[in-house]
Amino acid sequence: MKIAVDRSVCAGHALCALRAPRVYVLDEDGYCASDGQAVPPELEEEAAQGAANCPERAITLIEEPG
Ligand code: SF4
Repeated sequence: MKIAVDRSVCAGHALCALRAPRVYVLDEDGYCASDGQAVPPELEEEAAQGAANCPERAITLIEEPG
């Protein structure tokens, strides 16, 4: 699984990282800096919860084949 963040709609709420601190990384301004980041299998559920917590729906989780 891979994280895609639409930086054009990310508003820097930091709610993704609050809900899933082991998955999402914020930049120095509080915007999500996890675009393109791979998610290890054991953190996929946490990644989904963090994505669901984003009020802007800026996070898409992409399943990778294999
Ligand atoms: S919760 Fe959404 S809008 Fe807020 S920092 Fe995370 S990705 Fe951006």
